Amino acid sequence: MADLHFLKGKCQGLSFEGRGIVKIPGNVIFVDGLLPDEEADIEIIYKRAGNYYGRVKRLYNLSPARIKPLCGVATACGGCQFQNYQYRAQLDFKRGIVQYALSREFNKTFVVNDVVGMDSPFFYRNKIIKPIGLDSHGHLISGFYRNKTHEIVANKECVIEAKNATKVIDFVILLMNKYQIKPYDEKLKSGIIRYLFVRYGFNSEETMLVIVTHKKDFKNKEKFFGELVENHDLKLTSVIQNINDKDTNVVLGEKDCLIFGRKFIYDQLLGLTFKIDAKSFYQVNPVMTEKLYSKAIELAKIKNSDTVLDAYSGIGTISLIASKHAKKIIGVELVKEAHLNSIENAELNKINNVQFVNMDATEYIRNENLKEKINVLIMDPPRKGSTSEFIEAVIKRKIPTVIYISCNPFSLARDLKIFSEFYEIKEIAPFDMFPMTYHVETVCALSLKK
Ligand code: SAH
Repeated sequence: MADLHFLKGKCQGLSFEGRGIVKIPGNVIFVDGLLPDEEADIEIIYKRAGNYYGRVKRLYNLSPARIKPLCGVATACGGCQFQNYQYRAQLDFKRGIVQYALSREFNKTFVVNDVVGMDSPFFYRNKIIKPIGLDSHGHLISGFYRNKTHEIVANKECVIEAKNATKVIDFVILLMNKYQIKPYDEKLKSGIIRYLFVRYGFNSEETMLVIVTHKKDFKNKEKFFGELVENHDLKLTSVIQNINDKDTNVVLGEKDCLIFGRKFIYDQLLGLTFKIDAKSFYQVNPVMTEKLYSKAIELAKIKNSDTVLDAYSGIGTISLIASKHAKKIIGVELVKEAHLNSIENAELNKINNVQFVNMDATEYIRNENLKEKINVLIMDPPRKGSTSEFIEAVIKRKIPTVIYISCNPFSLARDLKIFSEFYEIKEIAPFDMFPMTYHVETVCALSLKK
């Protein structure tokens, strides 16, 4: 099979990453942009971990769910997988992935709720990170990296990012042209600006712009920043220069210089105000975050005599939103900056029945000295999921209700398997936090078996 270059094949379904699957004897080919039941002439572009990856050269019998992408560079850009797929079909695909992940782990089928989607699934992202570079004509561009490469696909009008972020990025590029400020070139190790990072508060309408530069000083710096902060149209409340001189994939360096305004923005969720700085985790889709958190609180059925543990609590959003239903909330978070934000957020919202702990969640719950009786656990771990030790400690403590929020159906399924001997799965509710991409967020309610 080493000499496989072209073939004609039929798409038999989508992989969990939203790629068309074409089966050939003894192997599969993953094809970006190919939809179920479509046939295509496929060119093999590379082989990795025993699998082939191909691209469509010519399409036959188009899927009825195929639509024209709103975005002009949808096929080349690595940001979205589903611009060409009807929104209803995207939601059905995501429900199917959650079902697949669970049935693979448990060897049985599960009832999974219909995926809650957005009324308007575009222009939703509040956090945008774009590398800056040059195109083949030497013109400045910003965009996203082509899938699995470091090649920037120019994208002037990304249709999933907040419109104000597009405006900010456009203006920065205009000023870079005007003041002849070069983008940083990773290969030549020359130039200045590496990334633009924008965080927009949809509810507060505050905008943070972080300009990541390779070095602190550069020609025309004063004029460049001066003209930038004078553009009141951009509603900038925070402009930060971040210096990153390391040659890694990490976007933000350690050193920040405040250029204008304050080092953080505020935003509101479900009536509470949150202080967010550049390095803290904050859900990227506020419309869906409100729906997801509301469902989590509804499923948790918290009583005013309850003590709730919010594990992996970030800047304290879930803790503070849950606090009015409970006697006491404990939020446990590992990252110091986020933990400090959560304490400030409790003060900001004048909430007194919360306690925030800066610790590894597993270490916290396994601590024998923790005598507190926890009635409800809400856990929202990162993509890799929780740990078996964490779950075993929950089982040992016999916590009656567990709400598990997950952005990865596969680590969710693995963790639920550990819970399942002692806990009943009551409801599985997926939410479309990331329209046009393959990602899906799930809330799952568990109840201790009697
Ligand atoms: N519940 C929050 C944050 C969820 S993201 C929200 O909805 O905004 C997951 C969080 O888990 C991140 O803030 C991350 O820093 C934190 N985290 C990662 N590993 C952890 C660990 N071992 N113990 C505690 N927190 C951890």
